[in-house]
Amino acid sequence: MINWSLYPNFSESEFACHCGCGQAEMSPEFMHVLQSIRTEFGRPMTVTSGYRCPAHNEKIGGGPEHPMGKAADIAVSNPDAMRLVSIACRFRIPRIGVSQRAGKARFVHIGGSTDLPHAIWSY
Ligand SMILES: [Zn+2]
Repeated sequence: MINWSLYPNFSESEFACHCGCGQAEMSPEFMHVLQSIRTEFGRPMTVTSGYRCPAHNEKIGGGPEHPMGKAADIAVSNPDAMRLVSIACRFRIPRIGVSQRAGKARFVHIGGSTDLPHAIWSY
């Protein structure tokens, strides 16, 4: 069980699976790093997707990290997106997805799975 009080800038509800199952099985190790990144970032970080149960992740065609509890999609753009990616690299986040197209909702995926290849991708 995860002790959410260790991550003062985040709450369980914002990491819960969007299918309605209510699960928020985040990895404590990943949340520790994410909190460190948030502290360095110094501004609110809006989590648009945290944990996803395997069924929901398959339904939406998501990548492998959300069901592992080792990913957070953050709504962020422009200079803040650059700063967030830079801080994530400093904290050795191994997998970063960037969705920053004009006219589209803008996100940065922060992925903490060290079992998968280190990667940066656009989506
Ligand atoms: Zn679910």
